[in-house]
Amino acid sequence: MAYKKTEQYDDKITSSLTENYKETLGLLGENAEREGLLKTPERMAKAMQYLTQGYQMDAKAILNSAKFHEEVSEMIIVKDIELYSMCEHHMLPFFGKAHIAYIPNGFITGLSKIARVVDVYARRLQVQERLTTQILDAIKDTLNPLGVGVVIEASHLCMMMRGVQKQNSVTTTSAFYGEFLKSPTRSEFMKLISASLH
Ligand SMILES: [Zn+2]
Repeated sequence: MAYKKTEQYDDKITSSLTENYKETLGLLGENAEREGLLKTPERMAKAMQYLTQGYQMDAKAILNSAKFHEEVSEMIIVKDIELYSMCEHHMLPFFGKAHIAYIPNGFITGLSKIARVVDVYARRLQVQERLTTQILDAIKDTLNPLGVGVVIEASHLCMMMRGVQKQNSVTTTSAFYGEFLKSPTRSEFMKLISASLH
């Protein structure tokens, strides 16, 4: 096999979480010993570690690992970046798309690194507003660009499945820095991503 993907989990954390989830299932009125649920606590333990792996990742290190000197002064846009995160209030998923643009100031980074930065901050307990500004700050602090713009549109299951049960609402957040604080640049960015905005 030329390529093998391996997932690694901390055994001690996995077994503690497994015990906790077994108890949780019981408290919810389930029988954790029934056949269909036997492996569920361990699966939950691993899924949650996977979904919060961003705590162990460093966005700036990722951006710096593919930072190149390049005299480009045009806006670079990566749009429709898939995003899956969990709200910190209910630990329920929110998911959608991120659109990111920056105007270089002597340095660019790999396009795939921009997408990975989204995962670094999305795979934690989050609020959409903070996720938006953390992505902006990582790009700003690493590349020192002339401007950065980040727009995130997401659906929150905590709104859709419980509480107000607004099935079709999409929350849009944005953060801008530098040139993007000026109306013409921001408008150009918004126009270029608007094909995919709701
Ligand atoms: Zn929530």
